[in-house]
Amino acid sequence: MRNEGVGSWPYRRVRLAPDKTAITFREQSLTYTQLDERVTRLAHALRELGVGKGDRVALLSRNHPSYLEALFASGLLGMIFVPLNARLTTPEIVYSLQDAGVTVLIHSAELSEVAVTATEQAGTPQRVVVDGEPDDDAVGYEEIIARSGTERLDEPVSHDDPCFIMYTSGTTGRPKGVVLTHGNIVFSAMNAVIDLDLLSDEVSLVCAPLFHTAALDFVALPTLLKGGTVCIEEGFDAQRVLHVIERAGITYMFGAPTMCDALTSHPNWDATDLSSIRRMIVAAAPVPPRTLHAYAERGVKLCQGYGLTETGPGALVLTPGNVERKLGTAGVPHFFTDVTLVDPSGEPVEPGQRGEIRICGPNVTSGYWNRPDATADAFDERGWFCSGDIGVADEDGFVAVVDRMKDMIISGGENIYPAEVEATLLDMPGVAGCAVFGVSDEKWGEVGRAAVTLDNGVRLSEQDMVDFLAERVAKYKIPKSFFVLDEIPRNASGKIRKHELRERYAG
Ligand code: ATP
Repeated sequence: MRNEGVGSWPYRRVRLAPDKTAITFREQSLTYTQLDERVTRLAHALRELGVGKGDRVALLSRNHPSYLEALFASGLLGMIFVPLNARLTTPEIVYSLQDAGVTVLIHSAELSEVAVTATEQAGTPQRVVVDGEPDDDAVGYEEIIARSGTERLDEPVSHDDPCFIMYTSGTTGRPKGVVLTHGNIVFSAMNAVIDLDLLSDEVSLVCAPLFHTAALDFVALPTLLKGGTVCIEEGFDAQRVLHVIERAGITYMFGAPTMCDALTSHPNWDATDLSSIRRMIVAAAPVPPRTLHAYAERGVKLCQGYGLTETGPGALVLTPGNVERKLGTAGVPHFFTDVTLVDPSGEPVEPGQRGEIRICGPNVTSGYWNRPDATADAFDERGWFCSGDIGVADEDGFVAVVDRMKDMIISGGENIYPAEVEATLLDMPGVAGCAVFGVSDEKWGEVGRAAVTLDNGVRLSEQDMVDFLAERVAKYKIPKSFFVLDEIPRNASGKIRKHELRERYAG
């Protein structure tokens, strides 16, 4: 068998357009030929470090071309790539490294401190340092690429082999590794190419984190599949993004609603030439109408998408041709994907009625890493993925995402699972009970708040609780305010009445 996976894309692209620019980053660029050579060398180097088919290679960094190089190199040899959220704390990273059984961690030099501690605690055998000098216990990324060979690798890799594992938290509070196979990624990229009319002269901007599926699977990979150019920004900075759109002539990009809003409220927004943008995707959280209108006024086709890491991520999309007609909806299912809206008994609902969004298709994960229990819970008896989101379809089948069944807060496009924060806070001496809930916020979409009860005679300040959490969970997960109560409101069966807390502490 041959390599039918994502790892083969660079050399397949070389056959079509060897000198085309594949990636730009800072002031440098790589052609497809150069990308293919670096990917092949990196794969040889990883093999020399003792990594083989099925082994896990993780990456911890801000946005950098090594995300794509390491993904392709892993794919060439059938290794499984594990991108880690660079904003996580050391204990959270240790958990993912151990859960995935990572053999090699590639990390940026700026994150060395956390990488060293996390790999020591997790027992991860090897570290490779990218974008800086390696310490004594690690090897340098550029150094191992430079000293490795360029012979073509012919490891058999099929569509059913896992391509990467991406960690999402969950209602149980323990992060789960979503396994996406090469087939899932191929079909996810094909969905984007078909539904967004991506072309081979695409110049796509990656300014959202590459450790989330949207930037990786929905912008970078489809662009490279089609032979376009991916411009990588290390992070999101509104002024810089507006500048790059104009200077590079960006044709395609993705932003979470908070990022889209940050662009429209920047003083340079009106003066920036946006005419090169053929379409832009907004997803990852509810999209306020003001955001859609601000882009429409400037003639930018802002296509709302909807999906989850588990669906690779695209499930629904408002295709460019329908933006004006169906503004406010997340469109129709992607080409290879099917979506149904069902009532609590699993029966499809009529147009105009609320139903849970369930998704099926070749882009949908077949399950979580080592978590058969969580996998079984995530699918219905027909094998459709249960999203925990509520949608309403119109007569033409265009779906608006209107609500959420699951207990989750989306703040600036990052998901926060209250169960995880609550479990952590309950470990704090003196905390007797707590409930974390989300309230609307103009800038971030939602922000978290915590209602806390304390043990008798204990006094804790907000700062004490912030400090305790800061050592254990990523900063974006820490509630923005804390309220100490005598009692947390519960219903008759003892379940916390979060809607009551949301109403009480909304302002
Ligand atoms: P990424 O991996 O880039 O964060 P994502 O946000 O699509 O992609 P998840 O982090 O898994 O994926 O979050 C999925 C959740 O985000 C969905 O279950 C839903 O609650 C929310 N979401 C995504 N798109 C929309 C949308 N257009 N409108 C409302 N909620 C959305």
